[in-house]
Amino acid sequence: MKIQFLGAAKMVTGSNYLITTENEKFIIDCGLFQGGSEEENLNKEPFKFEPSEIDFAILTHAHIDHSGRIPLLVKEGFTSSIYATKPTVDLCNIMLLDSAKIQESDTQWENKKRMRAGKPLIEPLYTSKDAISSLNNLKPCYYDELVVINENITVRFSDAGHILGSAIVEIWIKEKNKTTKIVFSGDLGMPNKPIINNPSYIEEADYVIVESTYGNTIHENLETNVLDLIKIINDTSMKGGTVIIPSFAVGRTQELIYELNNYYENNEEIAYHQRIPIYIDSPMAVKATEAFMENTYFFNKETKDRILSGDSVFEFENLKYVSSTEESMALNKVRFPRVIISSSGMATAGRVRHHLKHNLWDENSAVVFVGYQANGTLGRLLLDGKKEIKLLGEEIAVKASIHSLKGFSGHADEPMLLDWLSRFKEKPKMVFVVHGENDEQVQFCSTVKNNLGFNCIIPNLFDEFDIDYSGKTEYKELGKESMEENLIVEFQSLVDTIKGIQNRNLSIKFKDIDSKKYFDIKRNLNEIKDNMMDLSRYLDNEKKS
Ligand SMILES: [Zn+2]
Repeated sequence: MKIQFLGAAKMVTGSNYLITTENEKFIIDCGLFQGGSEEENLNKEPFKFEPSEIDFAILTHAHIDHSGRIPLLVKEGFTSSIYATKPTVDLCNIMLLDSAKIQESDTQWENKKRMRAGKPLIEPLYTSKDAISSLNNLKPCYYDELVVINENITVRFSDAGHILGSAIVEIWIKEKNKTTKIVFSGDLGMPNKPIINNPSYIEEADYVIVESTYGNTIHENLETNVLDLIKIINDTSMKGGTVIIPSFAVGRTQELIYELNNYYENNEEIAYHQRIPIYIDSPMAVKATEAFMENTYFFNKETKDRILSGDSVFEFENLKYVSSTEESMALNKVRFPRVIISSSGMATAGRVRHHLKHNLWDENSAVVFVGYQANGTLGRLLLDGKKEIKLLGEEIAVKASIHSLKGFSGHADEPMLLDWLSRFKEKPKMVFVVHGENDEQVQFCSTVKNNLGFNCIIPNLFDEFDIDYSGKTEYKELGKESMEENLIVEFQSLVDTIKGIQNRNLSIKFKDIDSKKYFDIKRNLNEIKDNMMDLSRYLDNEKKS
């Protein structure tokens, strides 16, 4: 069989891998290329495969550099299933539609210029209609379940700890009666992050495809960075300035809200009038936060416990969600100390560019980056210390202080990546290092070779490799003991959830009930009761046998 690297090879965006076996062709991820115009032009190139010939697709997570060309794939003739975790499917509902809207409005803008210049008009990469129709192809899965795609291919998603629903993908491929196992790390996260679980470890693989965004970096400590952020917010507001935080609407923004909520929950002595107003100015972040709350099952224990104890983790007094354009524009009409968290995370598009335009010139203001800034993006230019930039058609002097807090990163750093790789019990036949920029990749590859003794290679974009059967990793069924252990843990967590609800004061909670909410809750309760009856019948049968 063959694997071809069609994106995120010697770069961090456009994730897309093609696997061709004797019986099938499938892809992992189908992301947009983002960053400078050179990368973005790659989006307009035709796929290197015939979309109608692809048997199925697997999606590691919802970030647009992994999912953003799915509507294009479907538009070009792909008709089959795309397997992803349930939160990924829910988040794609928001993100792909948003991406389509950006494609449409960018094209409209470009066409106005073309019309004036007498040039031929162009079409958007895909439209909202394409995005909506592509969502029907997504098939939601849960972590740890075996997804039998056909008689030759079985897939399992494990938590990658990067964003909600992010997955490491194990794929068992049968060819000529022999099974080869390929593991895609997807984007790997750091342990002990807010909201989401720690990345899982995988113990067996013939071939590993591993990300390397921070393959040569050791991250700052998250807890220290949270304190740094609070200090920047307090110092800036003392000077009367604004803090702008460009942030990915999905994931990073919810983590920031979660951390700020914790801070105010733990410091109740700070009176309301002393609390700096915090605006989440991103309609997509508002929708993503709702999608998060639809998927609390996938949260880590600490967050679940907080919710069960009655803490609305994404809401606090001085936090305001901004959806409408009018409200967003109004933010820049009056100057007062505040924090504006807005997307996009690399300041390449979106409302944050307006806020930067209105605040970068002000030496009392601050810009705080809390995520990766790819080459060629406005975020990277600011981090590199550019003193003057062109933004929304204007020259802007950069006088605000620029900060970068790397502890918030959603990507594993070098020690974590090495730790993750070191858990493979036997050396994989080959480790392919992807999703990184040149220096990080070269250094990481040599660290992997030196420290772990693994064969390691950095594929070029469009490189193709033969992957032979190595005979090490037939799929092993879960042992009886692990099955028993898993079920006991799951049942216990269900019992804990119910206990958590029991401890709440129900009559206070339902004081302001209206008829819509009443029937929503009733329906939910009925469904749960129905499922509980099924479970309890199963336990009775177990007892009898
Ligand atoms: Zn990602």
